[in-house]
Amino acid sequence: MDAIDGQGFDGPIKWDVLTIGYLSRNKFWGESSDKGYRSPRCTCTLIRTNGRTIIVDPSCPPEEMLQVLDQRTGLKAEQITDVFLTHFHGDHRYGIEAFPHAKWFMPEREIEHCRGQVPAESPESLLLTKLIPVDRSLMPGIEILPTPGHSKGHGSLVFACEGLTVVVAGDAAMTKDFYLARDYYFNTTDPEAAVKSIDGIARIADIIVPGHDNYFMNKRS
Ligand SMILES: [Zn+2]
Ligand SMILES: [Zn+2]
Repeated sequence: MDAIDGQGFDGPIKWDVLTIGYLSRNKFWGESSDKGYRSPRCTCTLIRTNGRTIIVDPSCPPEEMLQVLDQRTGLKAEQITDVFLTHFHGDHRYGIEAFPHAKWFMPEREIEHCRGQVPAESPESLLLTKLIPVDRSLMPGIEILPTPGHSKGHGSLVFACEGLTVVVAGDAAMTKDFYLARDYYFNTTDPEAAVKSIDGIARIADIIVPGHDNYFMNKRS
């Protein structure tokens, strides 16, 4: 990941947070992990580079997703070339159908793992067949950092912007509080791997875009 220094691709990267996420339950607010207090929403990010316009984790129902896209960027559905899912949880792919003309990507390990988990011929299984597996790189200038733990094949995006390394961490970092405490969410598949993934992000990130919170600055460890 040290190789990511802004070299090797043509244009600068521009990125915007489309929706600031929040959790159904947040133990750092004194809430119990045993029940949901609200419907969750994930943080959705737009990345623009080299003629590609990428939605990461489409967070709202399709119609609202397009409204938010317009409100935050003035862009239309047809201008979105790619969608990337950090992992397969429902709240991170809620609005994917708003972008039928885009290419849809998810980390290869997450696709492989989920194939064995979803019922045959379910909507989820159909969606999995439409997702293009990606491994280390999404496109020039945007790398994929494997961040397993929250889910088996979870992946974060890493890119350079204005001399800083940005990590769009998805649920590898739930919120700033979870991140600072090196803590993981109640539904985490592999807690040990989740903590290692947080440490991995902490080593390389200057800016972290968490799965369910606004972005924040990081002092590399
Ligand atoms: Zn999740
Ligand atoms: Zn989430």
